Amino acid sequence: MDHPDTQRVLIAGGGIAGLATLRALSLQGVSATVVERSQQAADGGLAINLPGNAIAALHRLGLGEAIERVGYPVKRREYRTRRDRILATIDEDAFWGETMRPRAVRRSDLMTMLASGLDTSVIRRGSAVVSVEQDASGVRTRLSDGEELTSALLLGADGVRSSVRQAVAGQATAASARLAAASWRFMAPNPGLDCWTLWTGERGMVLLLPVDEGTVYGWAAATTADAASGDLALLESVVRDFPTRVRDTVAAVLAYPGSIYHSPIEEVRLTPWSRDRVVLIGDAAHATAPVWAEGAALAMEDALVIAELVGKHGAGPETGSRFESLRRSRVDHVQAMTDRLSKAARLPHTLRSLLMPFITPRSYVATYEPLKRW
Ligand SMILES: Cc1cc2nc3c(=O)[nH]c(=O)nc-3n(C[C@H](O)[C@H](O)[C@H](O)COP(=O)(O)OP(=O)(O)OC[C@H]3O[C@@H](n4cnc5c(N)ncnc54)[C@H](O)[C@@H]3O)c2cc1C
Repeated sequence: MDHPDTQRVLIAGGGIAGLATLRALSLQGVSATVVERSQQAADGGLAINLPGNAIAALHRLGLGEAIERVGYPVKRREYRTRRDRILATIDEDAFWGETMRPRAVRRSDLMTMLASGLDTSVIRRGSAVVSVEQDASGVRTRLSDGEELTSALLLGADGVRSSVRQAVAGQATAASARLAAASWRFMAPNPGLDCWTLWTGERGMVLLLPVDEGTVYGWAAATTADAASGDLALLESVVRDFPTRVRDTVAAVLAYPGSIYHSPIEEVRLTPWSRDRVVLIGDAAHATAPVWAEGAALAMEDALVIAELVGKHGAGPETGSRFESLRRSRVDHVQAMTDRLSKAARLPHTLRSLLMPFITPRSYVATYEPLKRW
């Protein structure tokens, strides 16, 4: 391979991980190129819940003031039964403190924020990575438009169905999440909620999260055998015996079925995350069911760590193993806590309602306490 340094660092994927990495590298004074399959910035998923460690990562990316301006503070969580009885309340404000206060944000706002102030001409939209080859001197990445880019390091930030993963792990694919095979997401008028609120019932669960005074982001999943189907009758059946304010909110979005976003929930469990000069980050390496809303946080933390390594040691073939030794235990922790709660979510409804007041506050602290530290 002739000139691996012509594109020193190539990032496949311009989602949260890709843009955060471009930003973190620029803070280190390292230039990079991003190739992104979509022509336009993706808004799939509508909004996102950012726990305290995601907020801390945004501060490190120079976006502390921006997230405080744009993100809606999430001060409390309420877990409720289908009859609206409170099973557990978490004071998130007290737990995280003011500077790490969790926030809800529209995904489009988060993407705009991550790209703000960067030279966006290095983001090549509308070209996808189709194949990757490497030798001792560099990586050759072939794109869907026929062009081939050569780099010293290729970062696979191309999401849960990563193409770059093939170059690291052969056929390894994503698997359906234990929590639920699929979920719906939507935006709806706020029925008067002032905090993160989750209702659980016999057939599934609904989370409503205010993103501003007048709007909630909704997430719903069925826990029945036919959960993978996007059939909206199934969403209706999940909330059939839920409180009126939940049923009315879902009914309001069912009137506009095109506004409801349905997608599988898939997970990636992979060892190792890298092979020589190709390193996977974000969902491509460790997509995890959104039980603890850690996907964006882990992606942005990955970005900060990989950028610091490249800034310090250059874009060499040992980047991946260094990255993994710094990141593996944190990701393992999130995945283990996700499995624990996913298992609890599948318990029979009555038993789960009995256990939730005890296990929920403890699981919250056990999950997030280690993530407060950096
Ligand atoms: C239902 C659901 C709800 C969630 N809720 C939350 C939440 O509240 N909080 C949270 O933190 N996380 C949440 N997550 C997880 C979060 O969305 C992901 O962890 C996060 O988006 C990962 O970012 P990423 O950049 O790694 O991947 P992605 O956001 O998937 O970005 C990958 C990018 O790569 C591009 N791409 C794909 N293939 C190629 C290719 N071959 N070549 C070039 N480009 C390519 C894609 O177009 C995309 O832009 C949720 C996930 C799901 C499924």
